[in-house]
Amino acid sequence: MTSFKSMLSIVALGSLLFAGGAQAQTKPTVGIAMPTKASARWIDDGNNIVKVLQERGYNTDLQYAEDDIPNQLSQIENMVTKGAKVLVIASIDGTTLSDVLKQAKDKGITIIAYDRLIRDTPNVDYYATFDNFQVGVLQAQSIEQGLKLKESKGPFNIELFGGSPDDNNAYFFYNGAMSVLQPDIDSGKLVVASKQMGMDKVSTLRWDGATAQARMDNLLSAFYTTKRVDAVLSPYDGLSIGILSSLKGVGYGSGNMPMPIVSGQDAEVPSIKSMLRGEQYSTIFKDTRDLARVTADMVDAALSGKTVTVNDTKTYNNGVKVVPSYLLKPVVVDKSNWEQVLIGSGYYKKEQFN
Ligand code: BGC
Repeated sequence: MTSFKSMLSIVALGSLLFAGGAQAQTKPTVGIAMPTKASARWIDDGNNIVKVLQERGYNTDLQYAEDDIPNQLSQIENMVTKGAKVLVIASIDGTTLSDVLKQAKDKGITIIAYDRLIRDTPNVDYYATFDNFQVGVLQAQSIEQGLKLKESKGPFNIELFGGSPDDNNAYFFYNGAMSVLQPDIDSGKLVVASKQMGMDKVSTLRWDGATAQARMDNLLSAFYTTKRVDAVLSPYDGLSIGILSSLKGVGYGSGNMPMPIVSGQDAEVPSIKSMLRGEQYSTIFKDTRDLARVTADMVDAALSGKTVTVNDTKTYNNGVKVVPSYLLKPVVVDKSNWEQVLIGSGYYKKEQFN
């Protein structure tokens, strides 16, 4: 009897082990498509998301497309062919993925838009991002604070830069910023000497710093030979660095030409260093560790048939449907709080800024 019992338990143990082994072999794979390694934020995103997914037992297939749209398409096609169960996609052009996403959906794959909305398709299930409108609001408020706009009569000259026109976020950043700046432009306290306003005039294809630098060069020579520019709305640190080089090239930041107030986004190391040198005025920190965690929670819930947690079901209409979203909070960073926010949270190490 005893031996029969123990035989049973051996069988039970064996089947448990087998189940464990089988489970280990069929750990679902999550395909992660990132746009480019040219900006540190996407490298952080990739590392963070792989880390958290692997900690939770998933296989990961992380690909970077170096801002090349066909490249990203074929990377995603490959993930589908190789049997990924979830796709996490930070798109280069949010409108070009419809065909491959249709194939993915037909195979029952869950599709999560990561940071950037995927547009013009019903085949996107969830969106994990930051409050993109608020990013623009914070950028503009920080510029107004830097100018001491509330306390002064002005007028101040400002130029506006937008992000890539194929990235849905770029419109949210711009509109958020303009919700703050427009009333002051209307009242004449802020003046856009070039009159270049609206995303059709101020966007920067592929978020390219050299393109922004060239546009700033043109603005300076066409409109600012006899007056100064006091502020520049820049939506991303990579553009800010280009804009600042252009400004330095004509003497801003030295002698009696103080540096204009220049905004940014992503809290990238070169921009924090620039801030510490008194050049870039502020940036926006978006903790990619939190975005990775929220995305991994979506993956877990979707694969186990549980309700996926979202906190916004109104804002992100992709042209076909409103995509249920989880929006994280962006944080403005300037000289006064960078240490507390970026070092205090362990995002960076102090030595990186020595
Ligand atoms: C992201 C920003 C980033 C920009 C350029 C946007 O979609 O939300 O954080 O600065 O792309 O990479």
